[in-house]
Amino acid sequence: MTGRAYRVPPIFITLGLLVLASDTADSPKGPSHWGDLKPEWKTCKTGMSQSPIDISSRSAIILRDSNVFQTCYIPGDAIIRNRGHDISVWWELGKAGSILFNGTSYSLQQCHWHSPSEHSIDGSRYDMELHMVHFGPANEIVVISNLYHSGSPNGFLSHVSGQIQSLIDKKEEMPIGAVDPRHIKEDGKNYYQYTGSLTTPPCSQGITWIINQKVLTVSSDQVDLLRQAVFDYAKENARPLQPINGRQVYLHTPTNQ
Ligand SMILES: [Zn+2]
Repeated sequence: MTGRAYRVPPIFITLGLLVLASDTADSPKGPSHWGDLKPEWKTCKTGMSQSPIDISSRSAIILRDSNVFQTCYIPGDAIIRNRGHDISVWWELGKAGSILFNGTSYSLQQCHWHSPSEHSIDGSRYDMELHMVHFGPANEIVVISNLYHSGSPNGFLSHVSGQIQSLIDKKEEMPIGAVDPRHIKEDGKNYYQYTGSLTTPPCSQGITWIINQKVLTVSSDQVDLLRQAVFDYAKENARPLQPINGRQVYLHTPTNQ
């Protein structure tokens, strides 16, 4: 493995300090004020390609291709972290494998959950959204997103629910041994893609979003557990929808459909 595997991208050093995402939108430190809180966060206010957005399925340009990205995930030692605004699972960069997207390999670094979902589709917001954050060779970021509605328990969350339980109301982290990202089971064929931003400060732009069109399931108990674990002073950790500002959304769909 190269030295890069051990380097934490600067953008995530900043993100690690964040505790503001669970403030409500109109509270003084909430999302609608992020751009005024620090000069380095001004993109949250001035950026023209921010995330999340509402995705219109009718406006999406259909691209017929069977492999938007290929996953090459492997089990890797992980830690689970309560950042105060979310629960996240972290791997050493490169140790849990990668995705191959447009001919470039992007290593999986971490995944975390939002409730309710940040993105909406045709105006519908879902109960939960999982973000899998990947870094390319020049620290370009690709986030794969899965949306969930209430239903059967989510298998990956079941794997880590004991550890989440022990992190309730504690801004701590703990090693949890090997975690296999393949348990996330995206199980998708069709994916939306657009270019947006981080949904927490500094709201950096140029992020490639790949959103699974297939909505998966999570039990209401699991959503409650995530909320109980982190949202000690707010009910939600989803940034409000941002203007699309003429951006194009693509829908990748297999050629045989
Ligand atoms: Zn996120």
